[in-house]
Amino acid sequence: MTQSAPAVATLGSRLAMLVLACAIPAVLAAILLIAYNFQREKAHALEQAHELAQSAVNAVDRDFASTQSALYALGTSDLLEKGDLAGFQQRASRVLQNLKAHDIVLTAPSGQQLVNTRVPFGSPLPVVGQPVRVKGLFDADRPVVTDLFYGKALKTHLFGIAVPVSDGTRVTHALAAGVMPETVAAMLRQQNLPRDWIAAVFDSSGTIVARSHQMDEFVGKKASPGLRERLQAETHGTLDTVTLEGVKVYTAFVRSPSSGWAVALGIPRRSLTNQLWLAVVVAIAVVGVLLATGFATAWHIGSRISGSIFELAKPAFALGYGAKVTVPPLYFHEANVLGETLSTASALLHDASAAVARHDARLTAIMDSAMDAIITVDDDQRVILYNRAAAAVFGWPPEEAVGRPLSQFIPARFRDAHVRHVEAFGQRNRARRGMGESGELLGLNRDGQEFPIEASISKINEDGKNFYTVVLRDITERVKARQALERSNADLRQFAYVASHDLKSPLRSIGGIAQILEHSYHGALDAKGIGLLRRLSAAAARLEQLTDDLLQLADLEGEVPAFAPVDCRDAVQEALQLMEQPIRDAGATVTVGDLPVVMGVHGELTHLFLNLIANAVKYHGQQAPEVRITAERAGAEWVISVADNGIGIDPKHHERIFEVFNRLHKVGDYGGTGIGLAICRTIAARQGGRIWVESQEGKGSTFKVALRGAAVPA
Ligand code: ADP
Repeated sequence: MTQSAPAVATLGSRLAMLVLACAIPAVLAAILLIAYNFQREKAHALEQAHELAQSAVNAVDRDFASTQSALYALGTSDLLEKGDLAGFQQRASRVLQNLKAHDIVLTAPSGQQLVNTRVPFGSPLPVVGQPVRVKGLFDADRPVVTDLFYGKALKTHLFGIAVPVSDGTRVTHALAAGVMPETVAAMLRQQNLPRDWIAAVFDSSGTIVARSHQMDEFVGKKASPGLRERLQAETHGTLDTVTLEGVKVYTAFVRSPSSGWAVALGIPRRSLTNQLWLAVVVAIAVVGVLLATGFATAWHIGSRISGSIFELAKPAFALGYGAKVTVPPLYFHEANVLGETLSTASALLHDASAAVARHDARLTAIMDSAMDAIITVDDDQRVILYNRAAAAVFGWPPEEAVGRPLSQFIPARFRDAHVRHVEAFGQRNRARRGMGESGELLGLNRDGQEFPIEASISKINEDGKNFYTVVLRDITERVKARQALERSNADLRQFAYVASHDLKSPLRSIGGIAQILEHSYHGALDAKGIGLLRRLSAAAARLEQLTDDLLQLADLEGEVPAFAPVDCRDAVQEALQLMEQPIRDAGATVTVGDLPVVMGVHGELTHLFLNLIANAVKYHGQQAPEVRITAERAGAEWVISVADNGIGIDPKHHERIFEVFNRLHKVGDYGGTGIGLAICRTIAARQGGRIWVESQEGKGSTFKVALRGAAVPA
C-alpha cells in the first residue's frame, strides 16, 4: 500500500487566508461603523425633525396669537359699543383681509350670531349655540382655539380662534375667526420640510388638521393610535410608528402647551434605511474590491514567491550532486540571499569535492604504489578499497573486487573463523594487530589456489561503524626459502651430530692411549715426552668438550617442545647443584632472590642458568666471585639477572660474545669453548625471550634474560 503524502497547504492558499484574516476585522469594523452611523443618522434626523416640529408648532402658535391679537383689537372697536353692527361688519371684513382666516363671526352669549362676514349685513343669521370650548370663553374671559370641527354650512372642516369681548365688567360677545385647514397646511409648506417627510398638525384632541401628504384624505381623521397616546401624555417625544397611509416612520412630535396643538414629523424609515443599504452596498463593494485586490495581490506575490522557491529547488538539487550552481536574481530579497548562499555553498562544496577527489587520487596512488596488498572493508566486511598490489596477489581486478565480502579472499574452511576474528577485533580496544597469530595464514586467489600470506589488520571507527584495513603480502617465496633453509639446517644438524658423535670415540681412544702411555711407559719417556703426552690428552679432552658443546647446540636447533610454566627457583637450584664443586673450588658465594614462574622448557632454562652461573664463577679477578640472581617484572615479561663481580666485558664485545666460538680470552687464561653464550641465546630465543649483557671492563657483568611470565602461577 502506498501512503499518500499528507495534504500540505500551498503558499497561495495560506496568503489567501491571510488576506481573509485581515479582511474579516475590517468587515466587522465596517458593519459596526455602518450600524453606528445608521443610529447616528437616525438620531440626527429625529433631532432635526424635533427642531422642525418645534418651529412648526411655534409658527402655529404665532398664527393663533396674531389672529387673536387682531380679534382683540377688533373687539375693542367703539362701533360695537355704539351698537353699529353694520359698521363693525365692514371693519371686520377689512381686518379679515389681513388675517389667515375664512370669516369673522360675532356671537352673543346666547349663541346668536350678530355679525358674519360670510353673509351681507342684514341677512338673517342663525342661532348656532356655542361650541363647548367657546363656552368657556365667557366663563374664563380668555381666548380659545377650538378643535377642528365640520362646518355644516360650509360643508368643510375648520376651526375657530375666538377671543372674549368685554365691556369692562363682563364678557359681552365672543369674536371668532374661522380658519380653514388649508391655512395651516400653507404654514406647514412654508417650513421647508424635506419632501418625503410626512408632517401633520394635530388639534388638542389629536385630530389631523393639516398634513403635508394626502391632506384631503386624512383631515379630520384621528392620529394613529400609538401617536395619539403619546400626544396626549407628553409635550414632545419620538417614536417608531406607521402613518395612516401605512408608511413606516420614525416620528418626532412637539405639542404646544398653550393651544394643546401638536406637530408631528414622520421620517420614512425607507429614506434612512435606503442610506443604510446604500452604505452596506458600498461597504460590500469596497470589501469585495479590497478582497479581490488582496487575493489578486496574494496570488501574484504567492506565485512570485513559489516561483522563487521553485527556482531555488533546482540549484539545491544540483547542489546534492556537487555541481556548481548559479542562481538568477529572484523576486524577493530573502530568496536572493538564499540563492547567493546556495551559490557560495556550491562553490565551497565543489572545492571540497575537488579536494576530496585529489585526496582520493593521492590515496589511491599511494595505495597502488605500495608493495603490499591493501584491502579496506566496511563494517559488513565488504571490500571498499583495493589496491593494485591486492589485484596482483588475488587476481581480481579492483572493479570486481570492490563490494565482495573479505571472506572470498580466504579458503572456505577458514571463513567462519575469520569473520568471527575480525568481529572480535572490532570489539576490542586495540587499533592494530597481526593476523594469523594462531597459525599460518592462507589466501585464496581468483583461480582457487591457496598461498601463504603475512597480514596485519587495523581498524578505524567512523560514526560508530568500524572500517578494517588489511595489509598483506604473499610470502610463498619466503616460506619456500624458509623450508629450504630448515631442510639444509636439519641436514647440517644431522651432519654436525654425526660428525661430533663419530669424532667422540676416536678422541676418547686418543685420550685413553695417551693416558696409558703416560702411566705404562712413564720410565721410558723423558720429561719432554711426558709433557707432550699430557698436552695430547688435554687437547683430546678439550676436543671432546667441544664436540659435546656442539652436540648440545645442534640439539637446540630442533623443534621446541611444548611450553609449560617453569618455576625459575627450581631451574636455578638444579643448576647450582650441578655447579656445586666449581663453586666450592672458586670460593664463590651465590645469592638467589625471589624468582618468578615463566613459560618455557624446564631443561633448557636449567641449561641456560647453568651456563650463566658457570661464566659468573669462572670469569673472576682477584676477588672471590660473588653471584647474585634476581628478577624484576617488565610488563608481561620477567627479566632475570645473573650478576657477578668479575672481570667485566668491554661494551664493544657485548654482541659478539653471543656468537659461536667467540671468546675474549686464551684457553690458558680461562678455559672454555666459546659456545656457552651461543647456547644461552638459542635457548632464550626458543622460549620467545631475549638475552643481553650490561657490563664494563673490570666492573663485573650482569647477564639479563627476558622471558614471558606464566599466566597462572604453577
Ligand atoms: P666460554 O666457553 O669461553 O666461556 P662462552 O660463550 O660462555 O664461552 O663465553 C664467551 C666469552 O664471553 C667468554 O670467552 C668470555 O670472554 C666472555 N664471558 C662470558 N661470561 C663472562 C663473564 N661472566 N664475565 C666476563 N666475561 C665473560
